[in-house]
Amino acid sequence: MAKLTDSVRYCKGIGAQRAEILHKLGVDTLEDLLRWFPRDYQDRSKIRDLSSMEDGETACVLARVVTLPVLNRVRAGMSLVKFRIADDSGSAEVVYFNQPYIKKQILSGQERYFFGKFRRDGGHIQMQNPITERKEQAGLATGRIVPVYPLTAGITQKALQTAVGAALDGLEEPLPDLLPPGLGDRYGMEPVREAYRHIHFPETMEQAAKARERLVFEELFVLACALGSLKGQRRVRPGIRIPMPELEEFTRTLPYRLTDAQLHAAKDALRDMSSGKGMNRLVQGDVGSGKTVVAAICVWAAFRSGLQSAFMAPTELLARQHKATMENLLGPLGIHTVLLTGSLGAAARRQALAEIRSGAADLVVGTHALLSEGVEYSKLGLVITDEQHRFGVSQRAALAEKADSPHILVMSATPIPRTLALMIYGDLDVSVIDELPPGRQKVETYAVKENMRPRIRKFAEKLVGEGRQVYVVCPMIGDDEQCSADLQSAKELYEELRDKAFPNLRLELLHGRMKGAEKERVMGAFASGEVDILVSTTVVEVGVDVPNAALMVVENAERFGLSQLHQLRGRVGRGKHKSYCILIQGSDGGDADARLGVMTKSNDGFRIAEEDLKLRGPGDFFGERQHGLPELHIADLASSLDILKLAQEEASGLLSRDPELKSCPALRNRVKRMLESQLGA
Ligand code: ADP
Ligand code: MG
Repeated sequence: MAKLTDSVRYCKGIGAQRAEILHKLGVDTLEDLLRWFPRDYQDRSKIRDLSSMEDGETACVLARVVTLPVLNRVRAGMSLVKFRIADDSGSAEVVYFNQPYIKKQILSGQERYFFGKFRRDGGHIQMQNPITERKEQAGLATGRIVPVYPLTAGITQKALQTAVGAALDGLEEPLPDLLPPGLGDRYGMEPVREAYRHIHFPETMEQAAKARERLVFEELFVLACALGSLKGQRRVRPGIRIPMPELEEFTRTLPYRLTDAQLHAAKDALRDMSSGKGMNRLVQGDVGSGKTVVAAICVWAAFRSGLQSAFMAPTELLARQHKATMENLLGPLGIHTVLLTGSLGAAARRQALAEIRSGAADLVVGTHALLSEGVEYSKLGLVITDEQHRFGVSQRAALAEKADSPHILVMSATPIPRTLALMIYGDLDVSVIDELPPGRQKVETYAVKENMRPRIRKFAEKLVGEGRQVYVVCPMIGDDEQCSADLQSAKELYEELRDKAFPNLRLELLHGRMKGAEKERVMGAFASGEVDILVSTTVVEVGVDVPNAALMVVENAERFGLSQLHQLRGRVGRGKHKSYCILIQGSDGGDADARLGVMTKSNDGFRIAEEDLKLRGPGDFFGERQHGLPELHIADLASSLDILKLAQEEASGLLSRDPELKSCPALRNRVKRMLESQLGA
């Protein structure tokens, strides 16, 4: 009898070689195998009449082999095995390519199931390479609903089906029920053992759906418990007490008045830091709502208590810009800021590290480099991360490790529906800046086709004539090859615009592959108004702040997510000038019109995010796993919002009654494992 923790390599149909392949997928034990859920099913349960098959249809038939299989070697490297089958309704020809051994397996007179795609030309019906089983042996690959697993090279569906079937039959202990006693019953869910059997080998599609729902709920429930208990732990974490300063002392140095929402957020944070407990706060606000100054206020408070702060940004460009902003805001108050990024030269890096270690640096602004080894703080009291969706929960935790128990402030412009926010930021308290600084104008947005280019160029020229500046953004997508192709397109566009369209204007190119210093030069030139038109990839997406820029042109806008477009649009309309965003749709098709239409109608980041979710589905929204949550096996956050809500309610109910999950040992174990391995707790 097998145990859940047994290795898959002893499973029927696996063996050492396949076990190695499964290992790469994270499947090592029988339990992992059972949690390798089907991504789809093929219904081979319905047996059809041969004569009813239409051309192109995929189905299962039960038929007798009526001719002897004949093997033909057509030419070198190509063989055919052919025979005919018949049922009461009619007959068909079956052909196997390059599987000469089939000839021996098929005997005339046998009754067999055949599953596959049919071709029909008038009365002539043919199947090519069907899956077949003898009637007496059927039940694994034919005559029922068959699971389709996410696959990888080197393992067949059949091998996985066999192994999962063997695991289900051979297990001595039941699968652990992670739900607290009674919870599943209350929602009419089936017992866990049935759920696992039915998700892999359902008798009906309804059964599969029900099993899936049970397991999705369970997975989200475990995640909600993990994040909930993380929040509980952090809550009680002690923190250095930083006395509340008189905010007025700071605000008088500002060239503007804080909005009420900014004041609220700042006070929330200052209160947290003075409470004696560690702060874990998320400040969420749409692009341009003024989050940076809230961070500056916290840095100032820490500084007054003799503590250092670290401020981590997702890109080099943003880090450099934040450093400049912070120097402006905080320099006059005697706060010394240093920059630490991956592209610093050796000497500069050495000096930065020395200042951080000695305490001469009051604030360190940087990228992931802040996490690297060799960065030692003298008295780190506050950790700030900007644009949180780029960092994982564990990275945030890693930075916090750099000190005993620093206060944590997270800033995000990613507008996400509330349920998801709870999930993703479940371990944080939240302040929302739901108000833009006064005088901001709505960015006028248009979605156009490529034939509008000449008019757009005239318009850009006119705005530049009035002293404004323009962004032109080209898409840049993850993988390398694609990347270079896109880079080329940014470069090409830049050259074309510079030489042909705007020979009299000042243009620059900015992309992610440029050296830090070069990026800084270009961005600096743009910020100080020495560049009229900046052609770039999405490096300007997050946070970049040039108030004089009044036009954002996005090429191939259909290739961006709506939230990303919203971020890009947020680069303009940051000053007093009327601003425009023009989205050029490069190729037709799909839902591009509808999606870009949303952009022209709404300026509200939250609404846009919800539409994005509806139109594109979760795959893109959570595409790059930017949320930093553990990978989910079966649940899909966005499409399971209702179940998620339920799971959250139940989890928080349970945690408040039983914070240590003593009443459910299996759940407690799983949560512990998740916290250790995936959330970096
Ligand atoms: P985000 O929330 O997108 O990070 P920033 O902090 O970059 O926004 O602020 C956007 C711009 O608004 C900056 O130029 C900043 O100086 C300015 N700003 C921030 N708060 C105010 C305010 N209360 N009144 C006027 N301008 C403000
Ligand atoms: Mg910002």
